[in-house]
Formats: sequence, structure tokens, C-alpha cells
Amino acid sequence: MGYSQDTICVQGGWQPKNGEPRVLPIYQSTTFKYATSEEMGKLFDLEEEGYFYSRLQNPTNDVVAQKICDLEGGVAAMLTSSGQAATMLAVTNICEAGDHVVCAAKVYGGTSNLLAVTLKRFGIETTLVDQDAPAEELEKAFQPNTKAVFAETISNPAGVVLDIDKFVKLAHEHGVPMICDNTFATPINCRPFEFGVDIVTHSTTKYMDGHAMALGGAIVDSGNFDWDAHADKFPGLTTPDESYHGVIYTQKFGKKAYITKATAQLMRDMGACQSPQNAFLTNVGLETLHLRVERHCRNAEKVAEFLKNHPKVAWVEYAGLADSKYHALAEKYMPNGTCGVLCFGPKGGRDGAMRFTNGLKMVAIVTHVADARSCVLHPASHTHRQLNDQQLIEAGVLPDLIRLSVGIEDVNDIIADLDQALANV
Ligand SMILES: *Cc1c(COP(=O)(O)O)cnc(C)c1O
Repeated sequence: MGYSQDTICVQGGWQPKNGEPRVLPIYQSTTFKYATSEEMGKLFDLEEEGYFYSRLQNPTNDVVAQKICDLEGGVAAMLTSSGQAATMLAVTNICEAGDHVVCAAKVYGGTSNLLAVTLKRFGIETTLVDQDAPAEELEKAFQPNTKAVFAETISNPAGVVLDIDKFVKLAHEHGVPMICDNTFATPINCRPFEFGVDIVTHSTTKYMDGHAMALGGAIVDSGNFDWDAHADKFPGLTTPDESYHGVIYTQKFGKKAYITKATAQLMRDMGACQSPQNAFLTNVGLETLHLRVERHCRNAEKVAEFLKNHPKVAWVEYAGLADSKYHALAEKYMPNGTCGVLCFGPKGGRDGAMRFTNGLKMVAIVTHVADARSCVLHPASHTHRQLNDQQLIEAGVLPDLIRLSVGIEDVNDIIADLDQALANV
């Protein structure tokens, strides 16, 4: 639709016909009815589009996928059970045993585990690269069997902003697609397709849901990568699929080849589908995404300034701060704001960080980010607690690092809570 993003958030996706419900219905049905065997058979042959079993497609999910697709400016999209499932399907849709992925090292921990540990066991190798390194350095990570490049537009938790142009250029020079996880920036602040990215993934669990209610993921295809031009690298898309009577996805589905294959083949076989109930909740979140993201950013900017000037704070990293190493990249790719998540270190190292978190009254300690309520995580005492200070530093997590997800409360109340908790440090 030709509307602006704010309008797509509110009105995109579900378009009721005369007499139909105003609100997106939850099609809480595993299965769909047909009058004749022939009609049903055509769906199984991919001859016609339609629903038959919710593991593959469900009308509620498809409407929400369409809204996310429109927000990103893509040609096709699908929902998955979680952000992890989105990454898993996005990569395995084009990589098989013997293939190789180049991935930014500072991605979400679940992503680096999936690629470097679990998919390695499936025969897919990953090289983790320093995303801030110059192109000549990154170039060395590519191999003849490289099939994809993966990175986050804003990394979780470090808040590193990707030099998208540098990565897109490298990927395309090697004839492979650039896949970006756009969870933290959201399409409100950054639309990676406008910078040449080919495929976008999301953990909709974060800002899109925004209320910590529904796990979910999404994959969106720009439709721009020319699989046929690199047919030898992507036989799964360009040669017959025996499990569908020899269909060739690029020939039959054109720009929708990638998402059709991921749905018809991988979702069929792996089953990482989203429940329609969660898709419904995600859609409610999406209706206010544009308002919330703006408020998250404005609040985080004020909180970052406050922390930067606080005598009990050793350091702050937030790309929205003018003196951040990543500010110039943020200005280029996300001029309206980055996200609501920032990192900082209270004085006093690991102990200072623990005193700070224990003193918080409103800001909660939770293993989550990007929801309406402000929250913190201290990796050294939570997710990474088995590591000593030296091991933490080697893992790229400073012992005093606090990940603060700034919510959409009144920023003065957030700052007051942080201030009184810092008094304990
Ligand atoms: C949370 C997160 C994921 C994983 O998503 P889940 O929905 O928790 O499976 C992937 N990427 C990023 C950037 C995330 O923040």
C-alpha cells in the first residue's frame, strides 16, 4: 500500500471486506476445509495458493507478515516461532553442509551460538569477523563456499551500528546475499533494503511486540538478490525440488522464490511456526510501534546524557550520543534515532554494578530488552555469571557492563530511579 510507515503500523495488514471483523481475527485452527480432493491437491503441488495446515501457513500469521513486509519495503515475508527460528531458517534456506557463512562477531549471543556451534555440527561453517575492520581485512574471511553474510544493524547488547554499505558491497562482490537482523533498529528507524541489504530478519519478541507478551520472529525478502545469476551457489533455489515434483523456485515464484522455499520446504520440515495467538499479539504491538520507538529513543537519549555526566558512572556507550564511536554511522543509517538500549558501567567494577542493580526500585532486573517497561541486565551476574573478570573481558563483556533497556515511562521517573540506585555505588 502507498501509505507512510506510521499509517502502515496502524492500518496495514488486515483489510476487512464488507461485514468482516474490524480487528484481525485469530484463525485458531490447525487445518482448513476443501470441497474436493483436486482443490486440495493443487495446494500440495504449489499450483495454487491457499491454506491447508497451520504449520505451513495461517491467515492470521500471513496478515502480520504482510504488515512487517510493508514496513520494511520488501516483496515477501513469513513469521517464525522466535527470532532464533528466523535466523535458523534464513541461513539454512541457502546454506547446506559444506557451505560457509561470514558473520559479524558482535551479534546476539544466540545467533553466534547457532551459527558457530550448532550449525557447525550440521556441516555449515561460520567465520566471525570484527565488523569494524576495514574491507580489505574482512575480505580475507570469504571462501569459495561462502553463501551468505550476516550482521545486525544495531548489535545486541553492545549497540554497535553496522557499516551497512561496506558489508553489502563485500557480500555482492562475492555473489552472496547480505542478511541483516534489524531487531533493535526496527524498520521505523532503519530500512536496510534502502541500503542494498537483501534479506532482513527480526526477533519480533522485542520492539515489535513491545510488551513482553509473545515470542516471535520474521524473515523479509527484498526480492532484489538475483539467485539465477549465481545459480551454481544456490542450487536449492535454482534446480528442481524433488519434494515438490521438481519445482524450480526461481522459475515458478520469481522474486518470491526465497520466502516460498523457506515456507513450503523448511517450515514444512522443521515446523518452527508461530502460533496465531502470538501473531495477533504482535500485531497489537505493531499498531503502536512508530510511537513507542520514537519515545524509547528520546528517553534513551536523555538517560544517556544523564549517565554520561554522573560522577558514579565510569563509561556510557550509546550510538545516539554525539561522542560515540558509532554516532556517524547512526546518523547515516538511522538519522531519526537508534534504539532504547544502551550500555554503561557504574564505578566500582563488578561489585559496583551489583550494588547499582540491587538498589533499583522501578527499573526491573529481567532477561529481556525492548519492552515498554525499563529494565536492566548485568551479564557478569546473570547471563555470564560462570566467568571470572578475565574471561568476561575475553568474551567482550566488561565485568561492570549494565545493559539498560530504556522504556516509555516518564523519563524523569527513570532518571530518578537510576540516580537513587547509583547512590549505592
Ligand atoms: C532476542 C534477539 C534474537 C533472538 O530472538 P528470540 O525471539 O528471543 O528467539 C535475535 N536477534 C536479536 C538482535 C535479538 O535481540
